[in-house]
Amino acid sequence: MTENEPAEGTVASIALGSNLGDRAANLRGAVEALERHEAVDVLRVSDLLETEPMGPPGQGPYLNAAMIVRTVLEPRDLLDVCLAIERQFGRIRGRPTEEEVRWGPRTLDLDLLLFGRRIIDEPGLTVPHPHLHERRFVLEPLVMIGPELVHPLRNATVAEMWSRLMERSGAME
Ligand code: AMP
Repeated sequence: MTENEPAEGTVASIALGSNLGDRAANLRGAVEALERHEAVDVLRVSDLLETEPMGPPGQGPYLNAAMIVRTVLEPRDLLDVCLAIERQFGRIRGRPTEEEVRWGPRTLDLDLLLFGRRIIDEPGLTVPHPHLHERRFVLEPLVMIGPELVHPLRNATVAEMWSRLMERSGAME
C-alpha cells in the first residue's frame, strides 16, 4: 500500500508467544504468514522479548512479541487466520491435565488483543483480550509499537495501562 491510497480496514493488534523449538523462527514465521495474507497489512512489529513462563513448572522461557496490522477482515476471520497459523506451526497438545494443556508449552500462540475500538464477547472470541491490561509479557512489546492504542472498555491507552501495571508491580516489591 502506498501512502496515497486510502487506509481501509481496521487497525488490530496481536500478541505472539513461543517457548518450544526455534522460538524466534516461529515468531518470524507467524509475522511472515500474516504479511503474505492479502487482506492483512502488517504495520508494526515489536522486538522479541524473553519472558518467564506462567503456568506449571518445568517450561522454558518464552519469546514474546506484538504486532499491529490493518485488515479488512472481520475479527472472527482474523482470529481464524491466526489459529490456522498456530496449527501450521504445530502447537504441542495432549499433556495430561487440562491445566497443563491450557498453560503448557507451545510452539506458537497468537492472541487477538484489540480490534479498533470493537468490543466482542462471543463464544470463542473476546476482544479486547481479557488479560491484555494485566500481563507484562503482552503489554511490554505492545507499548513499544502502539502506546497510543486505546482499550475501549478501560478508556485507557496502552501507555497508560503499561504505567499502571509498572506502578502495581513496583508496589508489590
Ligand atoms: P489459548 O490456547 O489459551 O491461547 O486459547 C485459544 C482459544 O481462545 C482460541 O481457540 C480462541 O477461540 C479463544 N479466544 C477467545 N478470545 C480470543 C482472543 N482475543 N484471541 C485469541 N484467542 C481467543
